[in-house]
Parts: sequence; structure tokens; C-alpha cells
Amino acid sequence: MTTARETPATGTPASGLTRVREEMAAACARAGRRPESVTLVAASKTVAPDVLAQTVEAGHLVYGENRVQEARDKWPGLLERFSGVELHLIGPLQSNKAREAVALFDVIHSVDRPSLCTALAKQCAQQDRWPRLFVQVNTGSEPQKAGVLPEEADAFLEACRGKHRLDVVGLMCIPPVGEPPEPHFTLLAEIAQRNGLKLLSMGMSGDYTSAIEHGATHVRVGSAIFGARAYPPRQDR
Ligand SMILES: *Cc1c(COP(=O)(O)O)cnc(C)c1O
Repeated sequence: MTTARETPATGTPASGLTRVREEMAAACARAGRRPESVTLVAASKTVAPDVLAQTVEAGHLVYGENRVQEARDKWPGLLERFSGVELHLIGPLQSNKAREAVALFDVIHSVDRPSLCTALAKQCAQQDRWPRLFVQVNTGSEPQKAGVLPEEADAFLEACRGKHRLDVVGLMCIPPVGEPPEPHFTLLAEIAQRNGLKLLSMGMSGDYTSAIEHGATHVRVGSAIFGARAYPPRQDR
């Protein structure tokens, strides 16, 4: 099994995108999957709007931000300038930011507790906007990490669909740092399968090719495209 390079991108973000796409295609080929079955979510936290304007112009349209506030500062201007951009929230969401999140994002990857479901259901109805939702699963049962525990996932999904009437399309995970991610990818895929969910958001710069071989439909890749950041991915709430 091949793992993606952990080294930051050299050269421009456009060349980083090209290289990541090539590695994604190779991973799809190894796994016998169609390249179109995996969406590259370019994780653009800390990336400046003028850089994003360049990658949008180069044809990449799907971006993930991990903070509502930062996305609100960066994206409205770009969304006015360019059509067809799809924005994903990949970081933790507080219930009191549900209104802004529903207004701005097309996809939310971090649904993980009943109070957030209540807030999202209310905002979706009020705004008549229905972002696609992923439930985040804390596959490593790490105390500091967001996400529902694996053993609580089935009941939580049931509540999302029943009580809250939310249309959950898939699951997301962030494997523990310093552990092989594969058991976490496998666990996420099993939970999705038994709950009839088709989409899996898993895989980052260090492990997206392996995630694809384990069934990822959405990989969230930042530093392999944009270079190293000043701060690491925030995984807590
Ligand atoms: C930043 C971030 C990523 C991308 O991380 P890289 O290691 O830079 O590819 C993926 N998922 C989440 C939730 C993030 O915050």
C-alpha cells in the first residue's frame, strides 16, 4: 500500500493540485475505482483569498474551511466573483454558529451532537437551505476530539433522521495522530455500510491515497496542495 507524501507542496498551489489529483487517480486505479468517485476537498484554512482566486481560476471548485468565522471573512467576495464554488465546513461547529454555517456552506462534515442537530434543523427550515450533512465519528474514542463515539453512532444517526429530520449523506473521521489510520478508515466504512450511508469523508495530506483504497469518497487535503501551515489542523472542539 502506498501512502501519500507528507512533505508539503513545492511550487504553486496549482501544481500541488495537479500532483494530488495524479496520486488520487493512481490510488483509484489500484482500488479499481473510478476517479470521479472521489471528491478532492482542498482544505484552505489560513490560505489567503488571492491564492484561492488563483486555484479557483485554475479550475478547482471544492474547498473546505475549518472555522466559520474565517470562511465568512474570506469567501463571500470570492463567491461573488466566481460561480460554481462548493464550500465545505470540515471543522467543529458550535450551535450558535449554525445560522451562519447553513447560510454559507454547501456541505457540513462535523455534525456530532443532538443540540447541533436541533440548531441545524431549525436553520435549514428557516433559510430553506439544505447543506448536505456528514456525521463526524470519533473513531479513536479520543476524549478531546469532536465526533460521536463509534458505539453511539447508530443511535445518533437514527435520531438525525427521525427526530431531527436531517438528511445525513455520510460519515467523517479524523484518525488519531501517530496511529496507522487504516483501522479507523475501516471502522468508519463499516458504520456507514450498516447505516446505509454511501459517502465517506476521510483522508488528509498524509494518508489520502490509503483512505481512497479504503473507500473514501471525499478526501480533505491541505498542506500537500498549499504547503505547510503555521498551525496544525485543529481537531478538538
Ligand atoms: C486542515 C484539515 C485537513 C487537511 O489537513 P492537511 O494535513 O493539511 O492535509 C483535513 N481535515 C480537517 C478537519 C482539517 O482541519
